[in-house]
Amino acid sequence: MSELHKFIFEGLPVRGMLVRLTDSWRDILARRAQAGGYPQAVTELLGEMTAAATLMQANIKFNGALILQIMGDGPVKLAVAEVQPDLSLRATAKVVGEVADAALGTVKLSDMVNVNNQGRCAITLDPKDRQPGQQPYQGVVPLYGDRHEKLEKLSDVIEHYMLQSEQLDTRLVLAANDQMAAGLLIQRLPLQGEANLAASGVSRADEDQIGLNEDYNRIAILAASLKSEELLTLDAQTILHRLFWEEDVRLFEPLAGESGPKFACTCSRERVGNMLRSLGTAEIESILAEQGHVEVGCDFCGAQYRFDPVDAAHIFTQAVASPPVAPGAH
Ligand SMILES: [Zn+2]
Repeated sequence: MSELHKFIFEGLPVRGMLVRLTDSWRDILARRAQAGGYPQAVTELLGEMTAAATLMQANIKFNGALILQIMGDGPVKLAVAEVQPDLSLRATAKVVGEVADAALGTVKLSDMVNVNNQGRCAITLDPKDRQPGQQPYQGVVPLYGDRHEKLEKLSDVIEHYMLQSEQLDTRLVLAANDQMAAGLLIQRLPLQGEANLAASGVSRADEDQIGLNEDYNRIAILAASLKSEELLTLDAQTILHRLFWEEDVRLFEPLAGESGPKFACTCSRERVGNMLRSLGTAEIESILAEQGHVEVGCDFCGAQYRFDPVDAAHIFTQAVASPPVAPGAH
């Protein structure tokens, strides 16, 4: 069963989380299996993204979806992991062209998504009660470091994002295979009264703390010593005991089952209808003329939505609640 563990270090300004996605991760891969599945290196990347997005969602108080995306400039054009506040999650990747065979050696992250250093990672917070016209909050970071060197670990990219956008010291260890996607997050707690992140900016005192808190640094170094294989094979208690046996760790009741991470897709016939409506009548009529119907598949769960000419006409006649945006309108 997939599970998320939260813990704190007693008396220290440090908290942590450990996620292990088993059934939920295998559900995501099973949905893709019919379409041929992913190359192994892409499975590992998407699994790490799904684990990271789950940790990030669980780490914020926000009523909406957290969407972690990589827009790649290599064979992996797009990879997306989306997690809802109830920890239901979905993920997909679009691969065009060849990804090297992982069995022949490690496939570098940059070879998949950052060949020309043009790849980007975006984190979007999309509120549940978003009004029409309201933009979701989005932060974007490149896939390179301070000296434009290509980053080869997703965890480095996200640590960068957390420091740049949220001013939070974070250590992240991620690993995935075709059975499990897992991650460990360690974070320095913002000082009292300085908790607010992107919205309010950060106070001078908090900035001065970045990278300097000894307790955080010691715990982060211990966390970074965790090996992928340990993360993928050991249970949460064993991992935490091995890493932090000299620390006073308080582990909370895990989120699992109904309240834990689980696969679920938010697609629906209505949403697909809205998307078709936004394409406009001319586009839909030309598809109908060519194919006799419009068929749309969900990239996340594989569901197929089919609209015959009568259904398609219906989409446009009911278009009252949210009128289509005219092409070119801003
Ligand atoms: Zn779906």
